[in-house]
Amino acid sequence: MSTIADNLSTLAARISVAAEAAGRAPSDIRLLAVSKTKPAAAVREAFAAGVRDVGENYLQEALNKQGELTDLPLTWHFIGPIQSNKTRAIAEHFDWVHSVDRLKIAQRLSEQRPEGLEPLNICLQLNVSGEASKSGCTPEELPALANAIAALPRLRLRGLMAIPEPTDDRAAQEAAFSRVRELQDSLGLSLDTLSMGMSHDLEAAIAQGATWVRIGTALFGARDYGQP
Ligand SMILES: *Cc1c(COP(=O)(O)O)cnc(C)c1O
Repeated sequence: MSTIADNLSTLAARISVAAEAAGRAPSDIRLLAVSKTKPAAAVREAFAAGVRDVGENYLQEALNKQGELTDLPLTWHFIGPIQSNKTRAIAEHFDWVHSVDRLKIAQRLSEQRPEGLEPLNICLQLNVSGEASKSGCTPEELPALANAIAALPRLRLRGLMAIPEPTDDRAAQEAAFSRVRELQDSLGLSLDTLSMGMSHDLEAAIAQGATWVRIGTALFGARDYGQP
């Protein structure tokens, strides 16, 4: 069985090869370790191997893990669906949110971001695959929403996040990611982040400009949702 450190070096190699194939510097692509369903001990092991950024989907699970890892200088990213009644805790306990897709949620995060902290880094989630996903704004909603979020005082809009419909077809993967990049470019805002690419499609995402790849399975192993 491979360890998290082994998995991380395999991922670093995959990222380097994909970056070089795209004529990009490997250091322009950052790995977000997605630890949903995994214990705090696994995050601690990932930290020891060099991980500094951790992504979580469920608020209570994330807060529990943060409580067990207060001794580590980790940067926490919220990447799951956001209910209105969770925005205050997210604004207080995370540095990045990748899954904003409604103005109401962005306004609450801005109002609730504590003054003593840096503005909250935001990626606007875009639904690139139509009906395949319920989360994410539509390409039609994107320009107005991006401009409104960019104007909120306690947020810093960094770019877009997308989760295209899973496919093994490399050309289809790249087509979806390239659409995200083109839509981001068409906004004309100065955005520096594209959060796209997961364990199975990080190469295609890097080819199309990803700056964060969000990796769960390839780092921590398969998730088991069957256990309580
Ligand atoms: C679970 C999850 C990931 C990681 O997916 P893997 O396929 O396990 O790498 C990335 N992004 C989001 C939003 C997720 O929910």
